Amino acid sequence: MTFEPKLIVSASEVLGEHRERAPVDAEQIARGVEMILSGIGEDPARPGLLETPRRVAESYSDLVAGYGVDPVSVLEPLADERGTGLIMMRSIPIASLCEHHLLPFTGTAAVAYLPGEDGVITGLSKLARLMDVLSRRLQVQERLVREAADALEQALSPRGVFVLIEAEHTCVSLRGARKPGSITVTTEARGVFADDAAARAELAALARG
Ligand code: ZN
Repeated sequence: MTFEPKLIVSASEVLGEHRERAPVDAEQIARGVEMILSGIGEDPARPGLLETPRRVAESYSDLVAGYGVDPVSVLEPLADERGTGLIMMRSIPIASLCEHHLLPFTGTAAVAYLPGEDGVITGLSKLARLMDVLSRRLQVQERLVREAADALEQALSPRGVFVLIEAEHTCVSLRGARKPGSITVTTEARGVFADDAAARAELAALARG
C-alpha cells in the first residue's frame, strides 16, 4: 500500500501566507522512527511498517507547522473597525504535542480580550488561527496560555486578556497515571483581569459556556 500524501493538510494550507520557516527534516525523523521500531523489537522491514517512518515524519511535519510563524503577525488589527466591549471566542479546538512525551493533548481554548483605549481589534478568525500557530509546536499547556496572552498583548495592547484551555493529555490518559477523561485546565489573566478575581470567575464561566 502506498501512502496518500494528499490526505495530510499541508502546513501552508493551515497557516497560509505566514509560514516562514523551512520544513522540518523529514528524513531525519523517519530514521528516528525506524530506530524506535527496532527498539521496541519490531521489524521495520515488514510490509505493515515499511511506510511507517515516512508517514510519521509527515505527521510530525504537520503537527509542528506552527514553528517559525510569528504569532503576533497573525493578529492583524482591523483597519476599519473599533471595539469597546469584551471580545471572546470560545470552543476553539486545539491539538498539540506535549514536549515531555511527544504525545498529543487535545481540547478547547477560549480567548478573550478587552480592547484598549484606541479600540484596536482583530478579526475573530485570527484568534482561532493564533491558537493553531501556538499549538502546532511542542508545548506544555501552561505555556500555551501564556504565549497566547503575550501575543494578544503585543499585537493589540488591550486593557485585559483572558485565556482558558481545557485539554486531555494522552500522556496522562494512556500511560503513567492512566486516567482517561481527566481534563487539565490552565488560565492566564492579564491587565485589568489580572487582579480582579470576580472578573476572572465571570470570564471562566463565559469561557465554558
Ligand atoms: Zn506529557
